Amino acid sequence: MLSTVRPDDRRRSTTIVTIVAVPADAYLARRLRPFATTVFATMSELATATGSVNLGQGFPDTDGPDELCEIAVAAIREGRNQYPPGNGIPELRHAVAGHQHAWYGIELDPESEVLVTVGATEAIAATLLALCEPGDEVVMFEPTYDSYAACAAMAGAVPRLVRLHPPDWTFDPDELAAAAASPRAKLVLLNSPHNPTGKVFSSDELGQVAAVCTARDLLAVTDEVYEHLVFEGSHVPLATLPGMRDRTLTISSGGKTFSFTGWKVGWVSAAAPLVAAVRAVKQFLTYTSPAPFQLAIAHGLGLPPETLRGFAAALAAKRDLLCDGLALLGFEVYRPDATYFATTEIGPVAPGLSGSDFCLALPGRCGVVAIPSAVFYDPADPGAGRTLVRWAFCKRDAVLRDALRRLASWSP
Ligand code: PMP
Ligand code: GLN
Repeated sequence: MLSTVRPDDRRRSTTIVTIVAVPADAYLARRLRPFATTVFATMSELATATGSVNLGQGFPDTDGPDELCEIAVAAIREGRNQYPPGNGIPELRHAVAGHQHAWYGIELDPESEVLVTVGATEAIAATLLALCEPGDEVVMFEPTYDSYAACAAMAGAVPRLVRLHPPDWTFDPDELAAAAASPRAKLVLLNSPHNPTGKVFSSDELGQVAAVCTARDLLAVTDEVYEHLVFEGSHVPLATLPGMRDRTLTISSGGKTFSFTGWKVGWVSAAAPLVAAVRAVKQFLTYTSPAPFQLAIAHGLGLPPETLRGFAAALAAKRDLLCDGLALLGFEVYRPDATYFATTEIGPVAPGLSGSDFCLALPGRCGVVAIPSAVFYDPADPGAGRTLVRWAFCKRDAVLRDALRRLASWSP
């Protein structure tokens, strides 16, 4: 994306900042050209260049628990600095197994049923590369987190989209059944809690997903990185539903739960043959994942449940601060049940503008960055999500208040 904005402008200065994205098309394989630059990188760059409050990319502006930092630092000083085992250090594999058992009653063999990855991002990529043949279809709910279509394309697979509808982001079970009935359907990729909408799939909806998987003999891949950031309802892993234990690959990571998104420690858990397939790919993507951070996240997974619930409670208050403020400014707010993100309909505030135009104008006009939700929809359907905008609220209260103050200066 190439965009021109006025930093500081808010009509005071005329300095122009140009974000230049070197086009990747000349060399990039054709199937990956739609994915040349992630919107998160572009918008964070724009925020830095314009001095805007960044409510775009989902990362907290305060770090997680000190005790986890101390463990990582001590691990470096104590010399845990060479390649750890390719499938992850035993401490973390055991901690993941212990966590899945304590929170969800899922029994895992830490030796063969847990694989540590470089964030959930690598887990998703390695899983799709491991499981999909070219031409296979991956059933996923739209809007979709941006890496899914890109990873499907890397594997030569094709997204088969099932639409979520606001305000509750429900789907039509017949649409899901039709997608799953396709002869090329290989697996269902489910993200719950869901980015960008903040939806937590209900037991009933999970039951419908499980029913199509068992009826059509599909695998399921679940992205549960927001499992501990739930404010309403509770998180239920798809793997706990009848018939799903041995056909589900469950992915999560420590970045969101512990507010260390830069540590990039993730994992996949599943039946041993499925984990073995993903490990075969992971060994040639990154081979292994940084040892000191694995040790710290292993400790984090064993923190008392009240501590993890405290993270969610603190974030729920931020959700309310931002959502109430956006509603007061006139946005139609879809208040999320989980995650870092709230979605708004911008029509009442910016009549006639698309979310993309609004988000490109916002840094210059108000000094705030947000994400146009259209990027989470199929580009072949340009009307989809056109007037929706995603805002991250995982920021200090003062920063959220500042953003709201700045947004108050918007005039259509
Ligand atoms: N899945 C979803 C839904 C996400 O929002 C993110 C961003 N954190 C990821 C996966 C990637 O997670 P990680 O940073 O652990 O790679
Ligand atoms: N998951 C983060 C988000 O949705 C972004 C992570 C990334 O930049 N890939 O904002």
